[in-house]
Amino acid sequence: MIKKFKQKWLFTPGPLVTSRKTKDAMLVDLGSRESDFIKVNQLVCNNIIKIIGIKDYVCVPIQGSGTFGIEAALSTVLSKKSKILILSNGAYGRRISNICKKISKKFILLTFKEDEIFSIDKCEKLIKKDKQITHVAMVHCETSSGILNPLIDVGSLCKRYKKKLFVDAMSTFGGIKIDFKKNNIDVLVSSPNKCLEGVPGFSFVITKKKSLINCSGNANTLSLDIYDQWKYFQENGQWRFTPPTHSILALYSSLQLLKKEGGISKRYKRYKKNYETLKNGMIKMGFTCFINKNFQSPIIVSFNYPKSSRFHFNTFYKKLSTIGYVIYPGQVTKKKTFRIGCIGDINPSVINSLLKAIKKILFIMKIKHL
Ligand SMILES: *Cc1c(COP(=O)(O)O)cnc(C)c1O
Repeated sequence: MIKKFKQKWLFTPGPLVTSRKTKDAMLVDLGSRESDFIKVNQLVCNNIIKIIGIKDYVCVPIQGSGTFGIEAALSTVLSKKSKILILSNGAYGRRISNICKKISKKFILLTFKEDEIFSIDKCEKLIKKDKQITHVAMVHCETSSGILNPLIDVGSLCKRYKKKLFVDAMSTFGGIKIDFKKNNIDVLVSSPNKCLEGVPGFSFVITKKKSLINCSGNANTLSLDIYDQWKYFQENGQWRFTPPTHSILALYSSLQLLKKEGGISKRYKRYKKNYETLKNGMIKMGFTCFINKNFQSPIIVSFNYPKSSRFHFNTFYKKLSTIGYVIYPGQVTKKKTFRIGCIGDINPSVINSLLKAIKKILFIMKIKHL
């Protein structure tokens, strides 16, 4: 007998709880060179472009987790002449600079506090000073804290100074509406296993076609080359190397479910309700949030550790997991926090059952005063 694992509720930054339909969609083994797979793969890419609603963009999927997609996109779009200004207020912003360092791309890192959004003034000063800057990179929702960064402000700054905008929208695409045209986004990277409610296995890069056609030869890696990947799709309709066939089928299903739900605006409303339910319930118990509510995304929330000396996160985590609720450790540097995600195939009633479970565990741990 092969061991069956218990399905738990995941309140994490991904992978997430997916619907039965999406799991069922994976119960077929398609040949990667079969016309069925080529067709479904094209449909998935076309459906993603339909979501953004303008035809000037192409969607290029690439094997690996979200970070692979970010690395591939940076490797491909930045040439020897490019220099990218990276705006960072957390771990994923820092990761963009770590990647640039590793793959020898010119960059400048502008760091802000983890509980503060970017100061557009500071960005503008740097752009004025450093004439070499060609691109600006930002993380839309900094999933390490849950802060939502000002895409519109950075977008208009980039337009004013004619800089190309690179967006890590890993944890927002599909859950928060993103205006590609208004923000003049050049490159955006996301993955199927967050707000699109698919499963892991690949990520995808959405880029302006007229930018991508100039990117031949930029990449300093064979497999993580978005230009070559795109060319191969154009010529053969196929992935260059073994594709994650089951994950593509899952995304094909989950994109239909997104449409059925009523599109991004409806999904946003559900996530927002999840978030409100979670935040209000936690505050009622005495917890406090790390991020000010004005900057807080409805994607994931960082809560400060309670002051009680009886609170030990690992015990709290394990006890919750045992009864079927998986939360997540914090990822901010100075303050002790833990995170609870609001995304995936979950609704406010699931959040309410999590809140009840938290109450129960606090009681068991004899934590009365948070
Ligand atoms: C999830 C995530 C990533 C990618 O993480 P992987 O573990 O490589 O999938 C990158 N940026 C942000 C903002 C994320 O939330």
